[in-house]
Amino acid sequence: KAKEHGRNCFQFYTSMMHENAKARSQLEGALHKALINEELSVVYQPILGKDNERIGCEALLRWHSETLGDVSPGEFIPVSEELGLILAMGEWVLFQACKQAKHWYEKTKTPFFVTVNVSSTQFKRQDVSTLVATVLRETGLPSHALTLEITENVLADNSERILTQLRAIRDMGVELAIDDFGTGYSSLSYLKRFPLSKLKIDQEFIRDLPHDAEDRALVSAIISMAANLNLQVVAEGVETAEQLGLLKQLDCDFTQGYLHAQPLSPDEFDVYLARFNEGC
Ligand code: C2E
Ligand code: MG
Ligand code: MG
Ligand code: MG
Repeated sequence: KAKEHGRNCFQFYTSMMHENAKARSQLEGALHKALINEELSVVYQPILGKDNERIGCEALLRWHSETLGDVSPGEFIPVSEELGLILAMGEWVLFQACKQAKHWYEKTKTPFFVTVNVSSTQFKRQDVSTLVATVLRETGLPSHALTLEITENVLADNSERILTQLRAIRDMGVELAIDDFGTGYSSLSYLKRFPLSKLKIDQEFIRDLPHDAEDRALVSAIISMAANLNLQVVAEGVETAEQLGLLKQLDCDFTQGYLHAQPLSPDEFDVYLARFNEGC
């Protein structure tokens, strides 16, 4: 009896592994076609300055696959990195975002900026600084209107190759932000070694801000540390007025989250920006 049960389990696991492998190869196959079939798009989520004195947006990739439907970036970005497809995708997003931002930069009275996520694979396998220079030249976006979002693991790498690229990017006037700040395991010493301008506090610390004294202590400490290091702070995942109120009390420079707006299509962002301009 037990033997039979064991055999069933074994069959269950192998068929599950088979299903996983099948799903994975379907995802890979579909991903290879995503760029050629023009299945990718970019959405833009507003980032607002403390007193609405500045407005920006984060460019976020979206993929609607003909065969798989909508697939979230959390699912397809890691696979794209493994397959090296992130290089072509990363170039595409950067170009789209800068082209779009140039249009909005000219429409707003308040200083406007766009942030673009760049993965560590791009820094390892490509010269991101050359790419950025090309895209800025081709789109005409002023360099100070662009921020690249990088994660702590880019800096943890600590290679001369990456540092050289980051310095070249900074020398052009492009800003660098640490994304998901506080969730990595690297030492804080990178804050003085690298030419950074913004820290984005991960939404994990913002979620329970009104009810969790420890989160409040951490966020408050991050904001004062950042101020002393001449870094600006962006709080991610702001969903409630209560969270926003606390962040304003703590003097957080920028906020981003569903409370202001979901990530928007370019047309929707146009409307958002027009309303924002009226409010100024
Ligand atoms: P991220 O860069 O930390 O982006 C923030 C994520 O939080 C986005 O998820 C955004 O839609 C979501 N978000 C924004 N406001 C709220 C809120 O109030 N509440 C909650 N619960 N979530 C909120 P998304 O678009 O699914 O992207 C997930 C991750 O995928 C991004 O995290 C980023 O790491 C990666 N990603 C997205 N686009 C790109 C890209 O073009 N290149 C690279 N390398 N990575 C990308
Ligand atoms: Mg980001
Ligand atoms: Mg983030
Ligand atoms: Mg995140």
